[in-house]
Amino acid sequence: MSIRFYNSLTKSSEEFTSLEPNVVRMYSCGPTVYDFAHIGNFRSFLFADLIRRFLEVEGYDVTHVMNITDVGHMTEDHLADGGGEDKMELAAKRLKEDKKSGKVPEGALDNPDDPYQVAQYFTDAFLDDARKLGMKIAFEYPEHIPHATNHIEDMQEMIAELIKNGHAYIGNDQAVYYSVESFPNYGKLSGNSLDQLREGSGGRVEEADQSNKKHPGDFLLWKPDQSHIMKWDSPWGTGYPGWHIECSVMAKKLLGRDVIDIHTGGEDLIFPHHECEIAQSCGCSGKESFARFWMHARFLLVEGEKMSKSKGNFYTVRDVLSGKVTGRDVHPAVLRYELIRSHYRSNMNFTEKGLRDSAGAVRKLTELNAKLEAQTKGEAAEIDNSYPVIAEFLGALRDDLNISGALGVLFTWISSKPDNPHEALAALRIVNRVLDVAPMEHAAELESKEESSGSDAFDVKALCQGIDDARTNKDYAKADELRTKLQDAGYEVRNSPEGTVATKQLA
Ligand code: AMP
Ligand code: ZN
Repeated sequence: MSIRFYNSLTKSSEEFTSLEPNVVRMYSCGPTVYDFAHIGNFRSFLFADLIRRFLEVEGYDVTHVMNITDVGHMTEDHLADGGGEDKMELAAKRLKEDKKSGKVPEGALDNPDDPYQVAQYFTDAFLDDARKLGMKIAFEYPEHIPHATNHIEDMQEMIAELIKNGHAYIGNDQAVYYSVESFPNYGKLSGNSLDQLREGSGGRVEEADQSNKKHPGDFLLWKPDQSHIMKWDSPWGTGYPGWHIECSVMAKKLLGRDVIDIHTGGEDLIFPHHECEIAQSCGCSGKESFARFWMHARFLLVEGEKMSKSKGNFYTVRDVLSGKVTGRDVHPAVLRYELIRSHYRSNMNFTEKGLRDSAGAVRKLTELNAKLEAQTKGEAAEIDNSYPVIAEFLGALRDDLNISGALGVLFTWISSKPDNPHEALAALRIVNRVLDVAPMEHAAELESKEESSGSDAFDVKALCQGIDDARTNKDYAKADELRTKLQDAGYEVRNSPEGTVATKQLA
C-alpha cells in the first residue's frame, strides 16, 4: 500500500514518492524566537516530527531542517511586505523589564539590549521544550536547526540572483522587492490572484508604501535601514532581510537541493510566507517546483479561537508541564500524545479533559511496555513491518497520517491481550518509534541532565529516604511534611517492602 499525503499545493491527496529513492528532504518553518513557543506552535512542530518518524519507520532516510527566525519578522507580516515593528526589538524591550522585575533566571541574559542574546535565550528555551516533547530534530541543533542570522550572506546572494534574472527590483524607497508579476505561479498555493492581491492590500498598506512598489503584492527582500537593531552591509545599503527569504535560502543550503520533497508549517503560513518562498526559490532556480509536497497543520484552538502570541490566549509548554494550567504537573509524554493524537488537518481544541484522556492512554502504553519488558527481560522477537498489528498501524498512517485510525488499531490490539510477549514487545517498540511516548526515546538523558544541572528539580529519592528516616525516628510530623511536599509536586506516595516510593502522576 502506497503512502498518500494531502498536498496543499494541488489541494488533493497524492501518492507520496521521494525524488531520490529512500531519501526524504524535508523543511519546516521553525519558531520566531521573540518569546516562548506555545503549545499551538508545538502542534505544528510535532506534526512535522510525526511525519519524519513515520517515514523513518517506513524505511526512508529523512533529513529534516527547521529554521530559527531571529531576524526580519515584523509585527505586520500578515501583509506581504511586512511592516510595523521588529518583533525581536519588541522582545528586547520586554525582556529588559522582565530582567528588572526578576522574571529572568539569575545568570541568564546579561545584556537584554543585545538582540543576539535575546534570540539565544528563547532559542535555548525552544530547544529545551522541544527535547522534552521528543522532537527528534531538537537533538540535531545546530546542524539541522540554523539561525537565519547565520545566513545573511546566502540571502544576499539569492537576492542578487533574483535581481539579475528580473524577479526583483529596487523600489523608490531603495528597498529590494520581489515582483509578483514576474512569477506566473504566484498565488497558486494560496489561491490568490494578482488582482485580488491588488484590491486586498490596497486598503491596508499605506499609500506611501504603495508608491515604492510596482504592484501592491510585491514583497520585501531587503530593507536598507541604518536605525534597525540588527543590520548588515549589503549592495543595497545597510539594513536587514525580509522574513520570507530566509527559508528559501536555508532550505536550499542545508538540504543541498533546489527541489525538496516536503515542506511543512502551520496553516497561517500558506500566505504570504509559503507563497513567497515558492516565488523566491523557483525564481532563483528556474525550476517548476520548490517543495513537491506542501503540508500544513490546522490550528490549535482555545475556546474556538486560534491560540496565538499576539492574542495573548496561549499556554507555553513550560506552563502546561509545570502544572500552571491544570494545577497538576503533566508528563511531557502526555502533552506530546495530546498534541499529536488528532488529525493534523482538523482543528484541535485544547482542554483539560483531553489531557486527562491522553494521560490514560500513555499510562496504558507505559504499563504494557513495563509488563512486556519484565516478562521478556527485554528480549524482543524479530518482526518487520508486515507483522499484523504493525501493518495495520502503518496502513492507517499511510492514509494521510490517519493518526486516530492508527491509535484505534493500537488500542484494539492491546485490548485483545496479545499472547506472545516477545512479539508484542517488538511491535510496541516499532509503534513507539513513531509515537515516542512509552518510554520517550530521550527521557533518561533529559532527566539525568536536569538532575546534574542542579535546577529546582528536587531529589525524589532523598525525600523518600527522609520520610523513612523520620518514621524510624518517630518524627511523624516531619514524615507528613515530606510526603505533602512530594504530593504537591504531583507524586503519588506509597509504602512498599523497600520503603517509601514516589511515582509521578502523568496528569
Ligand atoms: P511562529 O513562531 O509564530 O513563527 O510560529 C511557528 C509555527 O507555529 C508556524 O508553523 C505557525 O504556523 C505555527 N502556529 C502558530 N500558531 C499555531 C496554532 N494555534 N496552532 C498550530 N500551529 C500554530
Ligand atoms: Zn519559513
